[in-house]
Amino acid sequence: MESAEPTTEAESATEAESAVDTARAQLERAAAHLDVDDGIINRLRHPSGVYEVSIPLKRDDGTTEILTGYRSQHNDVRGPYKGGIRYHPEVSKDECVALSMWMTWKCAVMDIPFGGAKGGVVVDPKDLSEDEEERLTRRLSQELRPVIGPMKDIPAPDMGTNPQMMAWFMDAYSMQEGETHPGIVTGKPPAVGGSHGREEAPGRSVGIIAEKAIDHYGWDITDTTVAVQGFGSVGAYAARYLDDQGASVVAVSDVDGAIYDPDGLDTNDVEDHDARPGMVSGYDAPEKLTNAELLELDVDVLIPGAIGNVLTGDNANNVQADMIVEGANGPTTSQADTIFERRDIPVIPDFLANAGGVTVSYFEWLQNTNRRAWSLERVHEELEAEMLRAWEAVKAEHEARDVTWRDAAYIVALHRVAESHEARGLWP
Ligand code: GLU
Repeated sequence: MESAEPTTEAESATEAESAVDTARAQLERAAAHLDVDDGIINRLRHPSGVYEVSIPLKRDDGTTEILTGYRSQHNDVRGPYKGGIRYHPEVSKDECVALSMWMTWKCAVMDIPFGGAKGGVVVDPKDLSEDEEERLTRRLSQELRPVIGPMKDIPAPDMGTNPQMMAWFMDAYSMQEGETHPGIVTGKPPAVGGSHGREEAPGRSVGIIAEKAIDHYGWDITDTTVAVQGFGSVGAYAARYLDDQGASVVAVSDVDGAIYDPDGLDTNDVEDHDARPGMVSGYDAPEKLTNAELLELDVDVLIPGAIGNVLTGDNANNVQADMIVEGANGPTTSQADTIFERRDIPVIPDFLANAGGVTVSYFEWLQNTNRRAWSLERVHEELEAEMLRAWEAVKAEHEARDVTWRDAAYIVALHRVAESHEARGLWP
């Protein structure tokens, strides 16, 4: 039985860690393993620019509300900035900066020619009618137009945004430019240049990477139990993928709570949160749990696939899973990471595991550039090949240097980004 008491100073420090603190601490840890110029690390600690916009939104009742939006562009040394746009009441400038840093590492670990960006609007999407969503998205596209472009910065969906919004975003941009630019945004519906397989890609990649990790530790997937926090665009597809491979998914959740079946849930029978909100916690399962209880279930694999900062110094000692595969962006604080490292619980990092989203975004952008669609089979095949390539690169560092999976993934990504900076130099 693990001690519930923190044992080191790092583990017992009071935790008031913002996402950007976490992102910087992770960068510094990785930098310590590589011989990279301090000037480059310093540049990578900061975004190259953060744009703040005020978005006037005409509500259905005729009033005008001013919403705040951000776009953080962290790094574009390897190609155009890339990353999603979220609609969430807790969006902040700092959070966008951290998420844009993670996008830089995500694209680099996958070796796709994009940099890192992330944007968001401080709004609760549940408060918006469909017409309001459309007006907000079109106006946001217009406000960001000076800083985005198909070769400059390419947004995508994230929390609270969806393919339809990407279609409006693309339409507004294209109307202003006077020509159709499908490559301005990814995650569109296939009818306007979206890629087949884009919606399920982040969850699918979490499943593919979890399967590789299960295999790496010599476990049999058909004897593996899995708990997934969140049953939306990441969690539902990850759970279904692992269920299809023979794993037993014993718990899944939505914001209102979790359902638990020690014999394994039929993940195809549970409607996902995006399809019908409220249906997950409302599902007829043998047991209901809270989200906090789900995180502490005694399972083989825990997939936090909902929101950030859920595994912290407060609960990391109570986690009973033997492995964590991060589905959400930034679910583990550095303090929790330190505890998992001491407890020998491997944590497969977000920017490797959920990178299927941006990888299929890259495929989408290639299809848009070439004006030629790929079949779903081709997308699945190429995604799997890219995920396995990235997994092998990270595994090689993990084994050669005896570092955590997160450090190993950072080492792969940082090495690539730093090499590009070295080659391009600092101008002027
Ligand atoms: N928002 C997704 C992520 O966090 C996808 C980004 C993209 O496709 O550009 O990875």
